[in-house]
Amino acid sequence: MAWSLLIRGGTVIDGSGGPGGAADVAVEGDRIAAIGPRLTGEAARVVDAAGQAVTPGFIDAHSHSDLFYFACPSAESKVRQGVTTEVVGMCSFSQAPLAPGQEDVVRGWAGGIGASLDLRWQTFGQYLDALAAVRPAVNVAHFVGHGALRIAAMGFEARPAGGDDMKAMGRLLGEALDAGAFGFSSGLVYAPSAYSDTGELIELARTMKARGGLYFSHIRGESSMLLDSIAEAIRIGDEGGVGVQVSHVKASGRENWPKIDAALRMIEDARARGVDVLGDVYPYNAGSTKLDNLMPAWAHDGGVTKLLERLADRGMRRRIIEECLIDGERWGTVSQGGIGFDQIFIASCRRRELEGLSLAEIARQSGTSPADSLMNLLLEQTCTVGMVSFSQSLDNVAKVLAHPLLMIGSDSIPLFAGDGDKPGKPHPRTYGTFPRVLGEYARDRGLFSLETAVHKMTGMPAARLRLPKRGLLREGFAADIAVFNPATVRDESTYADPHRYPTGISYVIVNGAAVVDGGRFASSRPGRILRAAH
Ligand SMILES: [Zn+2]
Repeated sequence: MAWSLLIRGGTVIDGSGGPGGAADVAVEGDRIAAIGPRLTGEAARVVDAAGQAVTPGFIDAHSHSDLFYFACPSAESKVRQGVTTEVVGMCSFSQAPLAPGQEDVVRGWAGGIGASLDLRWQTFGQYLDALAAVRPAVNVAHFVGHGALRIAAMGFEARPAGGDDMKAMGRLLGEALDAGAFGFSSGLVYAPSAYSDTGELIELARTMKARGGLYFSHIRGESSMLLDSIAEAIRIGDEGGVGVQVSHVKASGRENWPKIDAALRMIEDARARGVDVLGDVYPYNAGSTKLDNLMPAWAHDGGVTKLLERLADRGMRRRIIEECLIDGERWGTVSQGGIGFDQIFIASCRRRELEGLSLAEIARQSGTSPADSLMNLLLEQTCTVGMVSFSQSLDNVAKVLAHPLLMIGSDSIPLFAGDGDKPGKPHPRTYGTFPRVLGEYARDRGLFSLETAVHKMTGMPAARLRLPKRGLLREGFAADIAVFNPATVRDESTYADPHRYPTGISYVIVNGAAVVDGGRFASSRPGRILRAAH
């Protein structure tokens, strides 16, 4: 029998972390048929991989692409990095479940930064079916967002969940798991997820215990509250009896940078005493989220409409400024820590002339204070602005990347395709996360071996999610494969010029079909919705 594809002459790095070696990889249909030196057999197509690394396709352990698949199913900005599977529904955000009448609330909450949400569904299962119908190019492992559960069960309200609310959330979470969700995610700096207490999250986690669901946590604070917040996430995993993932591990705000060692030690210690805790990280010292995340959680009570009312109210504005302005120069929130206004940049905005400018520059141009410029902009743009903010230490980024309990997750938000002019100054992680780990951190800085880098983006996340037969190059496993030149692979996207695809990645195979073919984007869409078997 002829193979459909034979990748010949490369160095196979199988994703386990073990050393690479010369081998050929044969694909039949959507599976790997054989791996070995100098395979002899007929193949419909032969790819010469001499001088190239042949690895499992990369698994992005933390992505927000689910808000963009419907508009950009080719996911080119992601696939060209070598990514074949994405973990989405992160940081409390997902487009389902959806209670009738809540569409506008959900649009203001999860949309707003360029995502146009169709919301033609109610249950998580209906949503996954709609997503499958648009055929994303990548495989999708979906979590359900705690914020979505809360809005559907009890509205966008700043109050603890009562008994009926808990029952409703538990039922919706159970339905999502039935449909194939891998667990639930929190975003404890984002309303309404932020309105929950620890008990609510433990109780929800417990409902997943027997089914092997996972809890992925954007923790309650990554700045001054970092250590307490990691302790809370670990406790939820421990007492809930589920695996817990600390998302995008970081210490935000200069005064908190020294806490990163203690944070990593807490994860090690918890693991040593039997808690199934791991984490993910992106290789940059800037983060990116919605600009309105710079407003305190209480100001979001009731959703975007209510937030805008407060931003228009003189007394409320004064209260926000009193709470957040530090020394008249920096803006401080639980989420970000204290950041100078010159370190907060507009990533996406309908007023495109503002994209790439800092809040300090915008304030100078408009002749108002930075704090007022920030709130005026949110008001004027109805909270549809995205930002990039520099709040982390590059030394910490390397330390976290190198830690053996940490895997790679981009935390990227939008997707882009094609070669034309594109809007905004999105965070370069959108285009560069995986090649940056391989090129900048593994090859150029020697932070870890290429095998370790590949493991952190393949076998490790696959094991975390218990993905059957993915994440390793093995006979019988899914033919999700990346082929790249380890000597030249490189991210090209920068903060100033972000819309640039990486170089050095020549083939990306998803379920046996080439999406990047000889360095060119082939625009096939062979991805699948991976449904967790609970
Ligand atoms: Zn997050």
